[in-house]
Order: sequence, then structure tokens, then C-alpha cells
Amino acid sequence: MTTHTLDKQGEKIHLADIATTSPKKTDKDAAKKEFDALGEELFDLQDLMWGARLNSVLIILQGRDTAGKDGTIKHVAGHLNPRGLNVVSFGVPTEEERQHDFLWRIHQHTPRLGEFAIFNRSHYEDVLVARVNQLVPEALWKERYGHIRDFEELLAEHGTLVLKFFLHISQQEQEERLLAREKEARKAWKISAGDWEDRQNWDAYTQAYEEVFARTSTREAPWTIVPADSKWYRNLVVAQALVDKLRPHREAWQKRLDAVGEEKKRDLARWRATRK
Ligand code: ATP
Repeated sequence: MTTHTLDKQGEKIHLADIATTSPKKTDKDAAKKEFDALGEELFDLQDLMWGARLNSVLIILQGRDTAGKDGTIKHVAGHLNPRGLNVVSFGVPTEEERQHDFLWRIHQHTPRLGEFAIFNRSHYEDVLVARVNQLVPEALWKERYGHIRDFEELLAEHGTLVLKFFLHISQQEQEERLLAREKEARKAWKISAGDWEDRQNWDAYTQAYEEVFARTSTREAPWTIVPADSKWYRNLVVAQALVDKLRPHREAWQKRLDAVGEEKKRDLARWRATRK
């Protein structure tokens, strides 16, 4: 699998150099099987993390219109236990949200220990759409990179495993998906002139995303660029990154569960002794 995971600040990447398609030799059926196997492992890891309460997981999904944020949520969340999973979509800020700092509405939805949260869009909109559409002065959005790094570091210190995914599609794929939406009765509700307008800002968004990657990729909260023209490959890359991040914690979670289990057994023995 070829993925670009960025975990160092200052790394300059050019999206145009990164493939949006799956590598030539990847077999679709094999990839789907692998995805299901990873899904089972993920479910198991989620169960351990839920009991251990040492960590939580925050998945941030960003991408252009039609990049597949909803589809990724459907497939990845489909392998998770809904208990302890929260999916949150961030749209245009409400009047109330605008009265606060840009991280206020985000922080309220970060996961409790033991839980998963999946964000469909996020605080990154405040350095993407806010920049491209000039919603705030340049000096303001530039300050936000530092706030974002500090915020994500704070989450990580609290045990949150932060994973950030950019679903990378080509301009042609986006056009096909937008046109397909118009044709399909079940999908037409999603279309808007804004989607076509945003396409005109393709290069401005590319520049904004590249700066996001350079300024907010850290060891605690890396970005993964996901080739997303093929949905099955996109799902596989996301699932693999998740399992890779969670797997190293398996032993610690298991140990914690064992220790709690032993403690509970001792409590029970003491209780029984008092009843004799
Ligand atoms: P999807 O998010 O799945 O593409 P959508 O575009 O229909 O679906 P909406 O709930 O209508 O989703 O809102 C998303 C819109 O909100 C996007 O255009 C996005 O740029 C905008 N948005 C999100 N966060 C902000 C923000 N902080 N400031 C301004 N606009 C924002």
C-alpha cells in the first residue's frame, strides 16, 4: 500500500505529485477482504479501549466536495460498535458558534476516554474555506495553525489518538461524481451551485491544504493523504492507518483490563467473606 503519512511540521508536499488512484497492481477483491479483516481487528481494539479507558480516538475527515467523507464514515463506522462512537458534521458556524473562538464548537465534541469520534469536516475549515473565501482577515487565519497544533497536542496529552485524513480525489473524478449526483434521484438532494463554484477555487484549495499539511502535521496528530478516486481503496487505507495507530496500545489496554478484573475479583471475595 502506498500512503503518505505526514507527521512532521514543515514537510512541504505537492498534492499534484500524489496519486489519487490505487496502485496499479492492487486487486479489488483482495482489498475488500483485507478491509473486512482490518474491520474485525478494529472492532476488537475498540472493545479493549472502551474497557481500559486509557485512550480515545479522534478521526478527522477532510476533503473537497464529493471526496467521500460520508462514504468513509459509513464503511469504517460500519465496523465499529455504535456504543462509544460519535459522528459529528461541522457546517457553516451558527450565530451562537460565531460568538465564540473557532475551537469552541469543536472541543465540545472531542471523545471521552474509551470512545471514538469521527468528524466530518472540522476546525480545519477555519483555515480552508475561511482562507479561500476570505471570511476572516489573513492575519487571523494565519494565527490559527498554532492554536490548532496546541489544541491537538492537548488532546493527545489526554490520551486521544488523533488521526487526520485528507481524501484526495482528482478534478476529473470530482466532475464525474457531481454529474452523477444530478442523474441519480437518490443523490440529487446533495447538489448545489456552491459545489461547482468551489471547483473554480480548486487551486486555491490545493494551496490551502498544502499549507495545512506543512503547518499542522505532527507526531501526535499526523495527516494521511488518502488516494480516494476508488472507494474500496480509500476505505482500505483509512482502516489500515487506524489499525496501525491503535494496535501498539493493545497490550497496555489488555493489562489494564486484567488489573481491573483482578481488583473486581478481590472486591467480590471480600464481599463474600463478610457474608459468612
Ligand atoms: P459535506 O460536508 O458532506 O460535503 P455538505 O456540503 O452538504 O456535505 P453542509 O452541512 O451543508 O454539508 O455544510 C458544509 C459546508 O459548511 C461546507 O461548504 C463547508 O465549507 C462549510 N463550513 C464548515 N465549517 C465552516 C467554517 N468554520 N466556516 C465557514 N464555513 C464552514
